[in-house]
This record gives sequence, structure tokens and C-alpha cells, in this order.
Amino acid sequence: MSATKARQIVLAARPQGKPRVTDFRLEETAVPTPGPGQVLLHVQYLSLDPYMRERMDDRESYQPPIPLGDVMPGESVATVVASHHSGYSAGDIVLAHTGWRTHALSDRSDLRKLDPAVAPVTTGLGALGMPGFTAYAGLRVIGKPKRNETVVVAAASGPVGSLVGQLAKLAGARAVGIAGGPEKCAYVKDELGFDAAVDHKGADFAANLAAACPDGIDVYFENVGGAVWQAVLPLLNQFARVPVSGLVAQYNDAGQGDRTDRLPATMRAVLFKSLTVRGFINYDFAADHYAAFLREVGAGIADGRIRYREDFVDGLEKAPEAFIGMLQGRNFGKLIVRV
Ligand code: NDP
Repeated sequence: MSATKARQIVLAARPQGKPRVTDFRLEETAVPTPGPGQVLLHVQYLSLDPYMRERMDDRESYQPPIPLGDVMPGESVATVVASHHSGYSAGDIVLAHTGWRTHALSDRSDLRKLDPAVAPVTTGLGALGMPGFTAYAGLRVIGKPKRNETVVVAAASGPVGSLVGQLAKLAGARAVGIAGGPEKCAYVKDELGFDAAVDHKGADFAANLAAACPDGIDVYFENVGGAVWQAVLPLLNQFARVPVSGLVAQYNDAGQGDRTDRLPATMRAVLFKSLTVRGFINYDFAADHYAAFLREVGAGIADGRIRYREDFVDGLEKAPEAFIGMLQGRNFGKLIVRV
């Protein structure tokens, strides 16, 4: 391989509230040399995901904080450029956990080979990857939508929300998406086939959501928290299920969001409506459900029943700005850096 220099982006400072580009640092290093059993990867596409914000803070979470000076973590689609392992050859395309960098070594335990003939390889970062599996597992294992029930999901144009709604439709339920702005709402309704889409930035959001859910809400797939949860809460039906996948509205503010205390109202609803509220991290369900996810969603993508949208940014150096924008809704579809 010809390149001798690699580039990487490290966490330079812990953000105070919204991250700034100065919280990241671009570094140049030597391209590493693979040892016995290792492969050298050249990253083609890097996934940017909301959970990365959570890990930039130094506080208890489901994964440890990123140490200052460490490479930002993340999944990528990479090409094997040199291999000291019999299972991999130069030219193989793999899904890997390289973090935000151009080159990485792997002992291959984190690798999954991708076949471009099955689906575009970038779907391994979105619809056919971790976000897609989050939608699939959270909906199937916790949400369990039935025919004619109403399923509501926010961040509905993103990789998790878009699949939640489409799987709900395939299960015979009504799907209502919440998204930021008319363009995203039109996409959710007209292209993804949700029954309704409601703009959480519009005036009368709560009233519009109520109008879009005349029979109440049976499954609320929680991706955002904050003010959206406040509008959802009074609409939940008896025995509603709430898979809690993420709280992106709160990530920039140490979990406080807009500092409105919704806990008393939430607990009251949990009790009087006999709600099932269950948090989950996608890998909780991987052993039992990942193979079925790849099969079912892979088939849905192949025959066009399941649609997805990708939002590409060019250049590793653009990753911090794109990541900051995603937390404010500036992405439209699965955010991927073309490295
Ligand atoms: P998206 O690509 O959809 O990006 C995040 C979106 O969140 C933004 O585009 C924006 O969309 C929306 N958003 C941001 N702030 C707010 C706000 N204050 N109120 C309402 N919406 C807001 O992200 P993903 O699909 O990758 O992830 C969606 C959620 O799923 C996240 O919370 C993430 O952490 C979670 N997740 C959980 C996993 C798990 O294992 N539990 C795994 C993967 C993801 P808009 O413009 O429409 O408002």
C-alpha cells in the first residue's frame, strides 16, 4: 500500500453542553504495521452515531467514558489492505470498530465481512447494522406491536426511527413518525409510508400529535426524551409499551435536557396505565435476534419493502462538525463520513 501517513481524530476536551470543534483534534500518525494474526484496515466509511456524545462525558453510563486524547470510537466500513490472518485477504470489505481514523489494525474479533452483492456496504452502518438492529430488537422484543395498534417513534427519518415505523407497518400497525421540519416529515410519510408525520418543531406540536393518534398510543419507541416525551405521555394507552432506546434531546446537557422534571408525571402514568417501560442497548438482544434481523431486514431491503436514506459527508476532518450537527438534527438519514 502506498500511504505512509494515517490520520485520526481524538477527544481533545470534554464538552460543556453542545460539543464544539475544539473538543476534537485531528492528528497525523504513521500507518501501523500488522503483527501476527492481525489485519491492516483502510477505512472507507465512518459511522457517526448519537451514543458517541454520551461517551464524551465523564460520568456513569452503559459504556466507560472515552479517555482524553483517545481516538473517538465508532464503526466503519473498511478495506483489508494487508492480512496476517488466513481468514482475510487484501481487498476484503469488512465492518469494523476502528474509530475515527483512516487506518487501523484489527485482531479480526470485531470484523464482519460485507458482501456488496447482498446490499450496498454502507447499509452495514445503518439499516443493516447497529441502528437497524436497535429498531428491530426494541420493537420486536419490547414493543411487540399488534395489528391496528398505534406505534409512535421520534427521530423518524433517521436509521433507527425509519426502520421502527416501517417494521410497525409490516406488522399491521399504524405508524406515526415525529421529525424536525416539513422536509423530513414529508419523507417519513410519503417515501417511508408512515401513516402520519408530526413536526416537533412546529407550533401546536402536542395538539398535532394528539390529532395524528386518535386512538392513543400503544407503542412509543423512545429515541429522544425531553419535550417530545411530555407530549407523548398523556396519549399512552393502558398497557402501552415503551422501549427506551435513546434520549438524544438530553445528551448535550448531562441528561437534564431542558431541566423540566417529568419524573412525577411519568411514574404516575407508569402506575395508572400499567405501562411497560424498558431501557435496552441493542447488543442485549444480539445473541437471540441478530441472525433473524439480518435475514428479515436484508430481504426487505433487497425487495424494496424497506427503504433507507444515507447522508454523506466527505473527509475525516469534517467528522466533528457533522457530528455536532447531527445532535441538532442537521443530518437527514444515516450520517456517514466518506473517509
Ligand atoms: P439520527 O440519525 O436520527 O439522528 C439523531 C436525530 O435526533 C436528529 O437528526 C434529530 O432529528 C433528532 N433530535 C435531536 N435532538 C432532538 C430533540 N431535542 N427533540 C427531538 N428530536 C431530536 O439518530 P439514530 O437513528 O442513529 O439514533 C436515534 C436514537 O436511537 C438516539 O437516541 C440514539 O442514541 C439511539 N440509539 C440507541 C441504541 C441502543 O442500543 N439503545 C443504538 C443506536 C441508537 P429531527 O431533525 O427529526 O428532530
